[in-house]
Amino acid sequence: PFDVLVVGGGPAGASAAIYAARKGIKTGIVAERFGGQILDTLSIENFISVKATEGPKLAMALEEHVKEYDIDVMDLVRAKGLEKKELFELELENGAVLKSKSVIISTGARWRNVNVPGEQELKNKGVAYCPHCDGPLFAGKDVAVIGGGNSGIEAAIDLAGIVKHVTVLEFAPELKADQVLQERLHSLPNVTVVTNAATQEITGTDNVTGITYQDRETGEDHHVELQGVFVQIGLVPNTEWLEGTLERNRIGEIITEKNGATTIPGVFAAGDCTDSAYNQIIISMGSGATAALGAFDYLIRN
Ligand code: FAD
Repeated sequence: PFDVLVVGGGPAGASAAIYAARKGIKTGIVAERFGGQILDTLSIENFISVKATEGPKLAMALEEHVKEYDIDVMDLVRAKGLEKKELFELELENGAVLKSKSVIISTGARWRNVNVPGEQELKNKGVAYCPHCDGPLFAGKDVAVIGGGNSGIEAAIDLAGIVKHVTVLEFAPELKADQVLQERLHSLPNVTVVTNAATQEITGTDNVTGITYQDRETGEDHHVELQGVFVQIGLVPNTEWLEGTLERNRIGEIITEKNGATTIPGVFAAGDCTDSAYNQIIISMGSGATAALGAFDYLIRN
């Protein structure tokens, strides 16, 4: 069995695995997609001490760093259940079961869907989630951004520099983004903001041709012709597979202590899948290190 089994191979998981392995204990890491969200990130300018890098490049560096240690890396495998018997047993979708004395969960998060007709059907045919990745595909076209929080407004500002026109649709009566972002947004000539807008449908057959939203004040439906829709309504933690085990908050984030401990002794968590205040690479790496040290502490006491 492993001493520490890390589930998730993003910045949090890679950091946790390296910290654990440096204690000379038997460490494994299971990842559906090693690298995690940074694989979908273009430019990274806030990974302190590295002025600028790109997601795939950072993912490669993570992998190289992990491979410097005696860590059992199991990529392209998905965990589907966790059970405490004599040891922890991690059940994989391929049927295998891995045993470990302690577990660190770092399964990250994914974009939230808006769940209207057309979204699934037109994914990658005009419906997008990552402005950094897909923005350039819409150069000179008209797009909508669904969501007026920080990520939505950042996306709208970003896209306004590339596309012809951006329509921002916010469900609430006002935008929720930071004031400085709103000011920047309002200074741009090719952006329209619609508040109180409930998205009803993304239209199109082969490609997106428009979006229909309801004005929540008047109840009237409006249709805007456009070629792209960026859904920016937040991230969902990848924790559904833990249903009925450790405690999660209202939105599914794993509740953690300062040392990364969860409500199950011996199970620690780190990164975007937890209730941390902010979701960033540097923060995930810090919490991965914390969880590994927490797990080591647990192991020497049990
Ligand atoms: P993730 O990166 O989400 O990794 C989760 C890992 O768990 C993956 O390996 C995944 O495959 C795996 N996994 C999930 N479920 C399972 C399962 N059931 N079984 C096995 N493995 C599983 N942050 C910054 O600091 N600066 C930026 O400039 C920046 N830009 C971003 C741009 C975009 C487009 C996105 C999407 C995010 C950006 N972020 C940025 C946020 C940053 O990428 C995340 O905060 C960070 O990747 C979180 O790391 P993590 O390890 O917690 O989770």
